[in-house]
Amino acid sequence: MILDGKKIKNQILDELKDEVNNLTIKPKLVVIQVGNNEASNVYIKQKNNMCNYIGYNFEHFKLDEDTNIDNLLELIYKLNNDDSVNGILVQLPLPKHIDSNKIINAISPVKDVDGLTDTNIGMLCHKKDSLYSCTPYGVMELLDRYDIDVSEKNVVIVGRSDLVGKPMSMMMLNKDATVTICHSKTNNLTEFTKKADILIVAIGKPNFITTDMIREDAIVIDVGISRTELGLCGDVDFDSVKDKVKYITPVPGGVGPMTVAMLGKNILKAYKLQNK
Ligand code: NAP
Repeated sequence: MILDGKKIKNQILDELKDEVNNLTIKPKLVVIQVGNNEASNVYIKQKNNMCNYIGYNFEHFKLDEDTNIDNLLELIYKLNNDDSVNGILVQLPLPKHIDSNKIINAISPVKDVDGLTDTNIGMLCHKKDSLYSCTPYGVMELLDRYDIDVSEKNVVIVGRSDLVGKPMSMMMLNKDATVTICHSKTNNLTEFTKKADILIVAIGKPNFITTDMIREDAIVIDVGISRTELGLCGDVDFDSVKDKVKYITPVPGGVGPMTVAMLGKNILKAYKLQNK
């Protein structure tokens, strides 16, 4: 069975739209982009569309590729102090001359709608309510909306990035799953993936996970997105795997839309945190 991220995203956006409709002052998202990365342009357009649909205000700062870090920091500090701005998102990747970690951590944690500051990641580790990283948060929400309980399950995550794999592991741990994290130095990967009740793959290698690597009736969450000649492609060889598993997310239409939906949720949460 397909876990339909697009359908769930639409449900979530409608719920948010209803709530925002009752607010006199609308929450505002600011997206900062440095350079003109093509994929970033697409992602920012999706975020803009999401904001328009829900009724959030949206502003996009597009800075030159050669912008220096001080200019970027100055803009972030200004937005941190601007009460009309509830969410600040720096579109990644940044050009190589800019230290992404320094930039992300310059964002006020209560406006960090991407949930990537050390503060928000730390809060997640300590199981405190915070702004959560949108992609793993989207995976949790998708499973929840399909009534899939992760407690006591063997969850195997392939990929250990700060953006996906690490926060994903914490969210699963916080929900009482038994978590294994694999990465490029893992020996005998299949030994681990075959034990997964829930397999989450976030490595960026098209069709890497094949049917022989998966247990029958597993739940497979494909976070990967690669642009290939045949279009967008996930990390899981969907066609060969789909009949063996209990649930699977498609690419596109699985985790991607959920990421946008959770950004929508985080913007309203940030607004509430700032207007307690
Ligand atoms: P990343 O920072 O490049 O991390 C990739 C991870 O995969 C690393 O931990 C790496 O291990 C591991 N890896 C690479 N090759 C491997 C292999 N052969 N076996 C096992 N592990 C391997 O990537 P990311 O930002 O997490 O993104 C991963 C994918 O998800 C990309 O396709 C990205 O486009 C997609 N993504 C999608 C969404 C969405 O909304 N759907 C959001 C974010 C990312 P090491 O740590 O050992 O190098």
